[in-house]
Amino acid sequence: MKTVSVLSAKDQIEKVIKLLIPVPEKLEIHELLITSEELTLVLASLQSLASCPVCGQETRRLHSTYMRTLQDLPWGSLRLQLHVQVHRFFCQNPDCKRKIFTERLPELVEPFARRTNRLRDALLTIAWALGGEAGAKQCAAHAMPICASNLLSLLRRQGVSTAPTPRVLGVDDWSFRRLQAGTLLVDLEHHRPVDVLLGSDEEVFASWLREHPDVEVISRDRGASYQKGAMKGAPQAKQVLDRWHLGKNLREVLQKALARQMDALQQAGEEVKESKQDQPTAPAQLAQAGAKQRKSPRRKAPSPSPQRAWQLALYQRVHELAAEGKPQREIAASLQVQRQTVRKYLRMPQFVDRRHSPSPSQVEPYRAYLQQRWEQGEVMIKALWQEIQQQGFTGSYGSLRNFLHTWPLPQEMVASPSSPFVAPIAQRASTTRTPRQATRLLLCEPEELRETDIAYRQALFRLAPSLENLSTLGKEFLQMIKKRDDQMFFPWLKRAKASPCEEIRRFALGLENEADAALAALTEPWSTGPVEGHITRLKLLKRQMYGRANIDLLRLRVLHVA
Ligand SMILES: [Zn+2]
Repeated sequence: MKTVSVLSAKDQIEKVIKLLIPVPEKLEIHELLITSEELTLVLASLQSLASCPVCGQETRRLHSTYMRTLQDLPWGSLRLQLHVQVHRFFCQNPDCKRKIFTERLPELVEPFARRTNRLRDALLTIAWALGGEAGAKQCAAHAMPICASNLLSLLRRQGVSTAPTPRVLGVDDWSFRRLQAGTLLVDLEHHRPVDVLLGSDEEVFASWLREHPDVEVISRDRGASYQKGAMKGAPQAKQVLDRWHLGKNLREVLQKALARQMDALQQAGEEVKESKQDQPTAPAQLAQAGAKQRKSPRRKAPSPSPQRAWQLALYQRVHELAAEGKPQREIAASLQVQRQTVRKYLRMPQFVDRRHSPSPSQVEPYRAYLQQRWEQGEVMIKALWQEIQQQGFTGSYGSLRNFLHTWPLPQEMVASPSSPFVAPIAQRASTTRTPRQATRLLLCEPEELRETDIAYRQALFRLAPSLENLSTLGKEFLQMIKKRDDQMFFPWLKRAKASPCEEIRRFALGLENEADAALAALTEPWSTGPVEGHITRLKLLKRQMYGRANIDLLRLRVLHVA
């Protein structure tokens, strides 16, 4: 590091202060007051000449002096206050409407501001990074006290520079509040967020595009609102579908088709199970398998776990009853579940597997005991919870449930016909696949699958022959996207439209309607990946603002790219 100055005891105290607390040349140091919390530096202006801020004419005619109090960057843990004596001047230009003005100190502070420029910049750095509440706490910890709302108004005042209109625009939606979505626009060439809009309907997008007519390419998902918005607002722009979203849409199509084949999914499961039981198993193999299971019962759960399969069946039943027009109360009563559960399931467009990662920290010390009890047949979580509580466990019921919920049921219980409740679920669960799992089976190549999966798939194709066609079409589609083979597109469409499966026919018709955008997905390099990245950042900022951010503030922080 370069030495700037060396001070000795003989130096004047003024020089020392000036070096430690930089003050502009035209200010003279009068005194420095020190208390246990604060330094106060008293300064006076030496300027005898000033220019009028309105007409610019120079003047020497003094009117008066007055004291400006400014907060400055702290000195260690001590707040620093500047008392600056400044001059007022007369403007001598008879045509000027300003008669009296105060001299400006542009290198130190803005007119009328109460914080020095360098303090303002330090506060802004913190505010951009942390937002109002967290920012104010940080500032207080660094001897720069400011309240959250003042910190935010600093942000608002600084604002963000408007980004130039991008040539290639990526668009995707995000959830602002419950039932309210927003739109994020990203410059795909420079990976920069361009704008944050409230609402995700076609008019919101179209009106933005009308104000920015230079957009040439729009990368989007298959949602109708952005498609129509782009057509309305920027008919000249080339639309490009996002490849990742196309793949996702295809998987959803398969999942939907499979959800209509629950009987086949279950029966295939039973067949595979039976054929497995038919095979004689060597005792050594059995013992080995048992040992493996005992060693790490958490690692490989039967998929889905009994609980999961039960929930899925319940979920489907709830939706069936709702489709019949039954009110929620009646559904809850007939299935003997809470109304909240019914409401929760009805809100889910598809069954969500809320698998928590078990938290081993608290339960781990009781693992050996729990394992022993589990093998003895105690699988009631509540009972186990009470037992380990007596041994000093302080964790919640939920943490134990999360810990145990992937443990397979003890062998005797699964097989035992005397256990009427557990056995049927477990039997069904051990081999039946959910529509989502079956989607994966349909899209994988045989070499990627285990033997039971292949057997399951074969059984499925035999029971529901249309699924084989669906599987072929699905794999071809994913291959086409992966290889970006636009030659495959129209032949694929033709085959898909002739498929016996209604869902894929509808998917193909939809793609045909926006064939240009779909083909562009295979020929253009653009994707909405960078938009997803910025949405992740947006969500983080939103959480930092405790989920109650104003859209304008959120927009500022998203668009501020340091
Ligand atoms: Zn003037």
